[in-house]
Amino acid sequence: MTTAPRTFRIAAIPADGVGKEVVAAGRAVLDALAEDSAGAFAFEWREFPWGCEYYERTGTMMDEDGLDQLKDFDAIYFGAVGWPTVPDHISLWGLRLKICQSFDQWANVRPVHFLPGVVSPLRKADDTELDWVVVRENSEGEYAGLGGRNLGGRGPGGEVAVQSALFTEVGCERIMRFAFDLARNRAHKKVSSVTKSNAQQYGMVLWDDVFKRVAADYPDVETESVLVDAMSAKFVLKPEDLSVVVASNLNADILSDLGSALAGSLGLAASANLNPERRYPSMFEPVHGSAPDIAGHGLANPIGAVGSAALMLEHFGLPDQAARLNKSIEATTAVGILTRDVGGTASTEDVTKAIIDALNA
Ligand code: ATP
Ligand code: MG
Repeated sequence: MTTAPRTFRIAAIPADGVGKEVVAAGRAVLDALAEDSAGAFAFEWREFPWGCEYYERTGTMMDEDGLDQLKDFDAIYFGAVGWPTVPDHISLWGLRLKICQSFDQWANVRPVHFLPGVVSPLRKADDTELDWVVVRENSEGEYAGLGGRNLGGRGPGGEVAVQSALFTEVGCERIMRFAFDLARNRAHKKVSSVTKSNAQQYGMVLWDDVFKRVAADYPDVETESVLVDAMSAKFVLKPEDLSVVVASNLNADILSDLGSALAGSLGLAASANLNPERRYPSMFEPVHGSAPDIAGHGLANPIGAVGSAALMLEHFGLPDQAARLNKSIEATTAVGILTRDVGGTASTEDVTKAIIDALNA
């Protein structure tokens, strides 16, 4: 009996700067994987030209009916958004955050793998055993967009602006259950919750209360609550103590950049913006931004984007293929085929080709 091939429809949005280079790399790796699957699965791509250049031409970051165009895809594979010619809050809210919020991608999963052959600034005895996942609340918190400028009239030079953070019991509970479910399936069954609840006494105290309540349902998982300043130190000083780290939108954003830098480079970090209910497509993207300083020169590290493709494979129910992809990344770094950000001289294309070659090794 033969089974029909499973075809996954993916919307590619390379967007800006190195986003274009690393999305091309990830697509090449996924296409190689599909070609090798003897027809078991296939990827059907559609590429969207949205981003800052599109904005300069049309006055909008994505088509007005863009969400409609995306909503029936199995996943979105995203590059990076932002370019010096467009204010960051316009480019970010006009494309990436618009997709995240409209498609209710409330869980942002950011694994930090330490790779063989990549020197970590931590220099622990065996850095490659360090393995964390930062789980970021992706729908509310400090990025809820609440507040305003020109509030109150204190005269010239006296403008008042307010930026509020939104915390809901439902929002806190779902991201915590997500984190606990993830921790339950890991060797190191632990969830660390991060806040600044000593100084921010409303939303973050609600977060702490919900964390305690949810933790009671997971007696098999070890827990701790740590303030974000102390957690920043812990990432550096006691990294072996961490497994799953759950935090609000802003805190997790900062901690995951710290985590990926500790693994060796921002260019290594993968992420998934998930709509766990699968009502809408989820979005897979490297953690890094558009890196205008290196864009267009073949210098970008494609590993964050390729790792994000592996997270997409897991989402498609292809965990063996995801593992195979991650092994190929490790095989590539282990023999010293590295881009400049991690101390090598290889180009984006060299690393991509090495990962593809390693798939069948
Ligand atoms: P964003 O606001 O979108 O997060 P950012 O301003 O924080 O972006 P990035 O664009 O991520 O900044 O770049 C930060 C630094 O990391 C830059 O020096 C950049 O060159 C480097 N960097 C980012 N991505 C990569 C990559 N894929 N490969 C190599 N270096 C990278
Ligand atoms: Mg950043």
